[in-house]
Amino acid sequence: MTDNPIHIIGGGLAGCEAAWQAAASGATVVLHEMRPLRGTEAHQTDLLAELVCSNSFRADDWEYNAVGLLHAEMRRLGSLIMACADACQTPAGGALAVDRDGFSKAVTRRIAAHPAIRVERGEVSSIPSHWANVIVATGPLTSPDLAAAILGLTGEDVLSFFDAIAPILHADTIDMTVAWKQSRYDKAGPAGDEAAYINCPMTREEYDAFIDAVLAGPKSEFKGWEDVPYFDGCLPLEVMAERGRETPRHGPMKPVGLTNPHQPTIKPYAVVQLRQDNALGTLWNMVGFQTKLKHAAQTEIFRTIPGLGKAVFARLGGLHRNTFLNSPRVLDERLRLRAAPRLRFAGQITGVEGYVESAAIGLLAGRLAAADAAGRDCAPPPPTTALGALVAHITAGHLSAGARSFQPMNINYGLLPPLEAPPQDADGRRLPRGERGRARKRAMSVRALADLKDWADAQTEGPPGSVRAL
Ligand SMILES: Cc1cc2nc3c(=O)[nH]c(=O)nc-3n(C[C@H](O)[C@H](O)[C@H](O)COP(=O)(O)OP(=O)(O)OC[C@H]3O[C@@H](n4cnc5c(N)ncnc54)[C@H](O)[C@@H]3O)c2cc1C
Repeated sequence: MTDNPIHIIGGGLAGCEAAWQAAASGATVVLHEMRPLRGTEAHQTDLLAELVCSNSFRADDWEYNAVGLLHAEMRRLGSLIMACADACQTPAGGALAVDRDGFSKAVTRRIAAHPAIRVERGEVSSIPSHWANVIVATGPLTSPDLAAAILGLTGEDVLSFFDAIAPILHADTIDMTVAWKQSRYDKAGPAGDEAAYINCPMTREEYDAFIDAVLAGPKSEFKGWEDVPYFDGCLPLEVMAERGRETPRHGPMKPVGLTNPHQPTIKPYAVVQLRQDNALGTLWNMVGFQTKLKHAAQTEIFRTIPGLGKAVFARLGGLHRNTFLNSPRVLDERLRLRAAPRLRFAGQITGVEGYVESAAIGLLAGRLAAADAAGRDCAPPPPTTALGALVAHITAGHLSAGARSFQPMNINYGLLPPLEAPPQDADGRRLPRGERGRARKRAMSVRALADLKDWADAQTEGPPGSVRAL
């Protein structure tokens, strides 16, 4: 190991991907992870890249889904996180879900075995001035001392808001004479299963009573915050219900694309879905049931769901702090802190949202830091790619008036520049209205992968063989 390694703080999804990419680009890396010496409110193990809530990396469809496109781009750039996710898949319809422990163990093993990466356990509470090339990837649950040190360096507000976790329960406690297995619209996913979800049906009366109980149930109190801003993509169940009694039924509890084989002629009014959480299939999580209901109330209320009357919970839901930078103001386009360019940021702390997006920013931060270490010039991919669009979202926003209200964001096609011309049929005619949206997404995805290839080909150095053929 050289005297000038890249120091990466945080061995989560972003930090591990950054370490892998930097090492693959020829740099040496020290990866600092505080667990198990110091824990967070959500992590439960000492493993690297632990998944704190859902075990899903979301849709795996590169043609028509923006996160699927991000998967594809990351795979093409030799992503460690995607390689381990692919190796640890569990059935999940059209989504890419993983065996939670198997995935984190695979990442931990591969990082530990890499000769250019050294893992150091222990909290980094301030950043030593002699570290010349640093990536901060400490995530939404950055330890308070380091958060304060970062706040001091940025001279800006570090925003905090809350995210919630969904419960996980033991499969053998689900009553399958009431529940049934089926993926919505029988869609087979990457793990090849059309019956990937367990579905629990509800009548209108059961749904109404359930919503009443969720609204009335005791919730965890916030300490010191009154108007807590939530991320819209991860709303607690009770917050959804407060926005409208029918909102959960149009969200995670929607009854569409499903037929109950126990009562095929009766259409459920709402459906609670569970997704496999580990490879053994012994644990299942309640999809979209992140909640701040108190634990005793969760057990009581969730057992009123048909099929879950005797459910035993392996983990109950909870509520946790999230921390992220006002990145459009404080970061430059290469993810460096304007006020201290030796510091680069990656992962959820930059204001992207989700496992995949966090790892994606880690991937770029690792490559950019390695290029700095080698004295090479390296710019992020163009914004026509999903990777480039994410970076542009979190860094270029300082040019826009919206920077003050910067909020964490999942990847979506709206972040990519529009096509120069709308897609046409084979005869050059405008497509019918119903086909335009899908065709537009596919054309944007095809453009993204082509532009990513051009970008990667133009890098003078980098991880060898880093772009695989289309
Ligand atoms: C409660 C909760 C639920 C979530 N649920 C989902 C979900 O279901 N799906 C989804 O896609 N995303 C979810 N997210 C978002 C998700 O956490 C992130 O997208 C992802 O884990 C972030 O990756 P990261 O690498 O930035 O941070 P993390 O994966 O959290 O990794 C950061 C690492 O840094 C370590 N660390 C922190 N401070 C220090 C320090 N001072 N010194 C050394 N090490 C330190 C931590 O121990 C941790 O291992 C959730 C977030 C929270 C908080």
